[in-house]
Amino acid sequence: MTSVYALCGGLIDLDRSGFFSDVVPGTRLTVPVICFLIAHPRGHVLLDTGVHRAAIADPVGRMGERRASLFRLRSAATDEVVSQLALLGLAPRDIRYVVNSHLHFDHCGGNEFFPESAILVQRAEMEAARQVLGGAAMRYNPSAIDFDHPLDYRLVDGEHDVFGDGQVVLLPTYGHTPGHQSLLVRAGKGAELVLTADACYTRENMDRDVLPNVLWDPAEMSRSLAALRDWRDRKGATVIYGHDPGQWQTLRRAPAALA
Ligand SMILES: [Zn+2]
Repeated sequence: MTSVYALCGGLIDLDRSGFFSDVVPGTRLTVPVICFLIAHPRGHVLLDTGVHRAAIADPVGRMGERRASLFRLRSAATDEVVSQLALLGLAPRDIRYVVNSHLHFDHCGGNEFFPESAILVQRAEMEAARQVLGGAAMRYNPSAIDFDHPLDYRLVDGEHDVFGDGQVVLLPTYGHTPGHQSLLVRAGKGAELVLTADACYTRENMDRDVLPNVLWDPAEMSRSLAALRDWRDRKGATVIYGHDPGQWQTLRRAPAALA
């Protein structure tokens, strides 16, 4: 039976206007960075690796001055992926697959700790991230220190069923970035869980149909958001939003299972 665990990969204080394009700047919001451990009978899958732990002690050194002031880190010392896996009695070498939803710093910060895992990234995402090294518009880490390591990256194109049994499926949700992906998990007795990552930051984005400021292609992102809403409202899936502070408060976190 497949189970899912929610891990805290960091806490970030930011301006609310970054999340909702129709909100004026000036209000702050503290949001979780969430990683998920999926325990499948044939191996462990980790969705996203959070903010790099070095950023907790030295945010400017790790993230650069501009990013460190836009995104103020509020993480406790153990709000990083390796400590969180330890809550489940796991080490990085126990992870068969790492899935990066996309290559923003708060989703692939800990990639370097997984040299023995296969890392699944959309081809379009990796190509864009490598092309725009230094491109501020894309908000990838200019120095690429988060993802640019000699790791076992496996590039995928579109939907991808990780174990071939429909239990862990990568769903292309392009728009936030060129190759963003979400994850569908069929856990327990067939309960469907959709982990949106940054294709939908919060429930409010989905309910009000409002996009964030950080995006690559608004039309593409709107289509992805509509598809995720369809999973929730028509297919009855449980949706876990990428950075929703309200939902995070109510979420069962590791070491307890979410589903
Ligand atoms: Zn992002």
